[in-house]
Amino acid sequence: MIKRIGKTIIQPTHTASCHCGAVLFELDLPDGVVDPKRCNCSLCRRKGAVMGTVALSGIRITQGADFLTVYRFHTGVACHYFCSRCGIYTHNVRRSAPTQCGYNIGCLDGVDPAALEHVSMSDGANHALDRGVE
Ligand SMILES: [Zn+2]
Repeated sequence: MIKRIGKTIIQPTHTASCHCGAVLFELDLPDGVVDPKRCNCSLCRRKGAVMGTVALSGIRITQGADFLTVYRFHTGVACHYFCSRCGIYTHNVRRSAPTQCGYNIGCLDGVDPAALEHVSMSDGANHALDRGVE
């Protein structure tokens, strides 16, 4: 668990935003940022965002839900949300773990993901559900 990134202390409930400020959200992160990841799937390799994971019940859109647009591809199960005004990818709901939510660590207020010491790579290009394994 990571409780500090650069100079920013990760709060038990940390606020987050898109770039233009239309979309505000908050995340329950009692254990800080857990297992930050990049992903090599066809979408993520274009975005390059570093993602964290939170329980679906641990994310709340506090402003601008109307600005969020959802993008789906491939099987159409996973939902990738982004701000329709500034285009920033805020979070996703994964098909591999529908009770979890991935969030863009770069959206956390005061956090620069470049200050993370270790970011592992998720092999989304070879998705477990595409290989027929759980
Ligand atoms: Zn925005």
